[in-house]
Amino acid sequence: HIELSHLRKQFGKTTVVDDFNLTIDNGEFVVLVGPSGCGKSTTLRMVAGLESISHGQVMIDGQAMEQRPPHLRNIAMVFQNYALYPHMSVRENICFGLKKSGASTSFIQTQLKNVSQVLQLNEYLERRPAELSGGQRQRVAMGRALARDAKLYLFDEPLSNLDAKLRHHMRSEIARLQHQYQMTALYVTHDQTEAMTLGDRVIVMREGKIEQVGSPMELYLYPANTFVASFIGSPA
Ligand code: ATP
Ligand code: MG
Repeated sequence: HIELSHLRKQFGKTTVVDDFNLTIDNGEFVVLVGPSGCGKSTTLRMVAGLESISHGQVMIDGQAMEQRPPHLRNIAMVFQNYALYPHMSVRENICFGLKKSGASTSFIQTQLKNVSQVLQLNEYLERRPAELSGGQRQRVAMGRALARDAKLYLFDEPLSNLDAKLRHHMRSEIARLQHQYQMTALYVTHDQTEAMTLGDRVIVMREGKIEQVGSPMELYLYPANTFVASFIGSPA
């Protein structure tokens, strides 16, 4: 399981994440919501090792991660800005991390086939990211993460750029994959429906701090304050 204890991030004198504590059980899907600028991406980036930690600890299965570079943490991440490799085709983008991790050719082929189908990417496999629309790029970023067999999946608004129909489709696919593979995930979204339908637990963040954690139903029925209520869409 994943243990985040007392995580803090400061940029200069500004604290943007403050005393973030969370344990994620194996197979648990935790959704993180909160207003723009409240520290969601920064939290994910600290867990992934892409941002230094000002204070606190990231433990995976009892092992401290702070000293480990991102590629040795066995974490797959979908970035808010996709961060695809521009010189590689879609196929290569999806397979790169798998190859790096030493996966067998047959496993790589199986995974490529699966995610291309689920994410409707078959037609685009030989294209470069520059030749894709925003939503297509977002799906490649998603495919690249899902193809991996990672200990933890970090998703930063992975569906934000899709049209309503595709978003709905992808949301059910993620739910299906979650049911099938029991990924351990921390998933950032602005979308209430995604939070309520995908999350085993939902965290509401405000100004770098956790405001409330609970099951979607708990937050909906018993929001700790009006801020949480407005974020979760509880009746006033
Ligand atoms: P959004 O929903 O808009 O993606 P977020 O919750 O992901 O927002 P973060 O990207 O984590 O927010 O940013 C949290 C705060 O930290 C913001 O006020 C942002 O301006 C600030 N911040 C982020 N990166 C840096 C940086 N490299 N230097 C200084 N401040 C930063
Ligand atoms: Mg963000």
